[in-house]
Amino acid sequence: MPLLNRYRADLHIHTVLSPCADLDMGPVNIIRAAHRLGTGIIAIADHHAAANVPAVMEYAGAGPPLIIPGIEVQTREDVHLLCLFSGLRAADDFAALIREKLPPVRNRPELFGEQVVVNGAEEILYFEEILLAGSVDMTVEGVAREVIARDGLLIPSHVDRPAYSLLANLGFLPPGLAVDALEIARPELMGKLWAEHPGLKGMPFITSSDAHFLSQMDTEYVTVFDLAEPSFWEIKLALGGKAGRRVAIEAREPDHAEP
Ligand SMILES: [Zn+2]
Ligand SMILES: [Zn+2]
Repeated sequence: MPLLNRYRADLHIHTVLSPCADLDMGPVNIIRAAHRLGTGIIAIADHHAAANVPAVMEYAGAGPPLIIPGIEVQTREDVHLLCLFSGLRAADDFAALIREKLPPVRNRPELFGEQVVVNGAEEILYFEEILLAGSVDMTVEGVAREVIARDGLLIPSHVDRPAYSLLANLGFLPPGLAVDALEIARPELMGKLWAEHPGLKGMPFITSSDAHFLSQMDTEYVTVFDLAEPSFWEIKLALGGKAGRRVAIEAREPDHAEP
């Protein structure tokens, strides 16, 4: 087995493209925060769009951190699903499909917030005009099929939250739904979740910042992966418990404190 290294990961970060995200969630601030926090792998997951992933990749360069392209989908059942992909081509392809399933409602920035697409230098390229909030006309199962078809990772978002979550809205993990992991917002309450849903014990869990504001990236708990190298495919192995790769949730050690 190759030598494995431990990487901190935050696989759910919003940018200025999400209407509900702060305008300081640009590539420069996100990458600087990842450096400061010692986060070796991040995923950019805006609501229903992947248009700011290239800017974050551009600014990150060869990394660290590794940038994984993602999209957070809100299904017909109002369930949030974190969908991660191996590269931009798959993410863009998925984004194009999701866009067709969005209601054709124009954003009203004064109500919902700006949806800004930027480049790696944080210059504004354009404002997304279709409202990225709301639900797409796809079911949980339908989204799962499309993610699997693109070799992506399907991770139901913040399953322990009382709204917009698989367990809150459906009440259970549908049997046969091919999830790669579940995201828990408050890992300190994992015992409660297991007590309510004993079937989830033994499933791979991650925790993420789901940051809409920069300060939210500094979480109390963090997902760590033991991988041969930081890559999407290594993460897939870890979530599958294969080849000795591992995923775990840890309390963050205060080694990132600023002087
Ligand atoms: Zn969400
Ligand atoms: Zn989110």
